[in-house]
Amino acid sequence: MRQNIPVLLKAEVVVVGGGPAGICAAIMAARGGAKVALIERWPILGGQSTMARVCMWHTSDRKKEVILGLTREFVERLKVYDGVQQLPDFPHRYETYLFSNEWINIVYDQMIRECGIRVLCYTPCVGILKSERKLEAIVVGSKMGLRQVQGDIFVDATGDGDVGFFSGCETMVGRESDGKVQGMTVVAGFSGLDRSRRKEIEEAHGPIFKLMDKFCQQGKLPSHGPHWFGGNFIWKWPGTLIACIDGNPLSEEDLTRATMEARAKLPKFLSFFREYWPGCEKLELAWTAPSIGIRESRRVRGLYTFTAEDIYKKRSFPDAIGHGFWMVDIHDPEGSGRTTWMDKSTYLEPGTTYQIPYRILVARDMDNLLIAGRCASATHEGMAGLRVQSHCHLMGQAAGAAAVLSLEQNILLANIDVTKLQRRLVDSGVFIDEKRVKNARQS
Ligand SMILES: Cc1cc2nc3c(=O)[nH]c(=O)nc-3n(C[C@H](O)[C@H](O)[C@H](O)COP(=O)(O)OP(=O)(O)OC[C@H]3O[C@@H](n4cnc5c(N)ncnc54)[C@H](O)[C@@H]3O)c2cc1C
Repeated sequence: MRQNIPVLLKAEVVVVGGGPAGICAAIMAARGGAKVALIERWPILGGQSTMARVCMWHTSDRKKEVILGLTREFVERLKVYDGVQQLPDFPHRYETYLFSNEWINIVYDQMIRECGIRVLCYTPCVGILKSERKLEAIVVGSKMGLRQVQGDIFVDATGDGDVGFFSGCETMVGRESDGKVQGMTVVAGFSGLDRSRRKEIEEAHGPIFKLMDKFCQQGKLPSHGPHWFGGNFIWKWPGTLIACIDGNPLSEEDLTRATMEARAKLPKFLSFFREYWPGCEKLELAWTAPSIGIRESRRVRGLYTFTAEDIYKKRSFPDAIGHGFWMVDIHDPEGSGRTTWMDKSTYLEPGTTYQIPYRILVARDMDNLLIAGRCASATHEGMAGLRVQSHCHLMGQAAGAAAVLSLEQNILLANIDVTKLQRRLVDSGVFIDEKRVKNARQS
């Protein structure tokens, strides 16, 4: 089989999936001196941040910024184009940055190309080649037929855990009880808002939202996301999380159904806004995200499985790669649009964080495979906190740095010196509270 598939390219580190996690893994590995290939099935990089138009990074524990590193670099680069807006008053003061989905494309491209990464968009990974616990190559679909991309270390950043799954690693999907994943959402943008009536529009936000809920209960409006309405209209890049739906992201047919059904709900929202929201009489549908937004699908079993308890107990880890602060944020798997985000009791107290351990990135069942982003090793609830983009950036950075260490020292990913890994992450701007790491080592 292996001989029959022509080799397209070879790299030391092959990152599969160019979303927030994969981009950061590729940049970090290339900056560390490795020859890197980044393989992406869509025409543009960014994953949910571009194709599903999810354009927010949260960076603080509501007292101080704890996410720095590449997230900070993205923000600084976007500022050059006036492509980022900080929202300090976003409901929970997580120091949220709203970014332009257009400028971020350009920034991602710049940063990836600057460090000499070989990047192939339009290239889905459809299989793998392995010998026992060692992944030899991924198999990609190309216009010339199947091709193999060989590597020494692989990073599965597909969000769906495709590489882990193809490799035969143990995988987990959705909630433990029935395998259902978090609800999906089509993000849409509107134009035609009468900005001269800003005050009126803002004041109507609360009552309009209540009316939407009432209409939804009466069956006059479809289910919808609970947030972003109103605030979005006054931001520079108006878009709103709007049509929510359930579905199976691992079935192309069901995903297509969910996407079409969610999109079909949009005219009803538009008519509602025009009729009931003062200042929105001339609203137009400006765009819909090319892909439905997928919050959750497969996760690959690693050396450690991160849980809700790790979040609620604000655990520290000896192998921490950074800090997380997001709550267990589950959008109803039945697609109602309701979310635990609305229940403030799930929030961590301001100024507190949990740490993210390196072991959730190391595939348990393959020796040279890392998993980063929303397919890393966690339970349904654990990933509900980890999945925000700034955390995915962290996981990607750590995966890239770990791959380089493993190559340099010719040592298995499971055995790298985590103190060195932490040093490299801190040197590249990541915040790690070393006191907490020390305490975790001693306990
Ligand atoms: C509607 C919605 C709202 C959200 N709101 C927020 C928010 O407000 N703030 C926040 O921080 N986060 C939010 N998130 C979560 C966040 O956007 C995602 O969890 C994050 O993008 C995950 O990053 P990732 O790199 O792990 O995966 P993804 O962003 O999904 O990227 C995976 C990449 O891998 C590629 N890929 C997949 N399979 C293959 C394959 N076989 N071969 C090649 N390439 C492949 C995909 O095309 C994609 O580019 C939201 C998510 C959704 C859907």
